[in-house]
Amino acid sequence: MPPCPICQQVDAAHAGTHPRHITTLPHCSVVLHDQQGQRGWCVLQLRSHAEHLADLPVSQQQEIFGEVAAVAAAIRTVTGCTRINYECLGNIAHHIHWHVIPRYPTDENPRAAVWGFKPETLGRTLDPADQTALIAAIRNAIRLQAEPR
Ligand SMILES: [Zn+2]
Repeated sequence: MPPCPICQQVDAAHAGTHPRHITTLPHCSVVLHDQQGQRGWCVLQLRSHAEHLADLPVSQQQEIFGEVAAVAAAIRTVTGCTRINYECLGNIAHHIHWHVIPRYPTDENPRAAVWGFKPETLGRTLDPADQTALIAAIRNAIRLQAEPR
């Protein structure tokens, strides 16, 4: 059985070698997605291997969703996007992870899920300085979300 690609990314984030690691929350490691056609697209990766969200205790499910919502709020703050898509798919990587995808009025099809967008559009990457700045901004915004209000 091949190694789990999400576990490999979580391990890299823990080791400080993941190039797009943003932060580590109690349940999830947060990374900037490698495809930045939707600027600010993040992925929350459960820090321990589990395949099905419904198998986790309800309290943990709720806390995970709190982390997803905090990341979404941070992305909105940083990017000014108008909408967020939340996707927990698991079709390719069978390890609980959430895609948190900012949406903009200028999207090639604002009413459709991004998966049908042109690969050359969706797969855009950022130049290294821009990527570093975006990661820092999202990290900071997540920290502000986590502070008591
Ligand atoms: Zn895994």
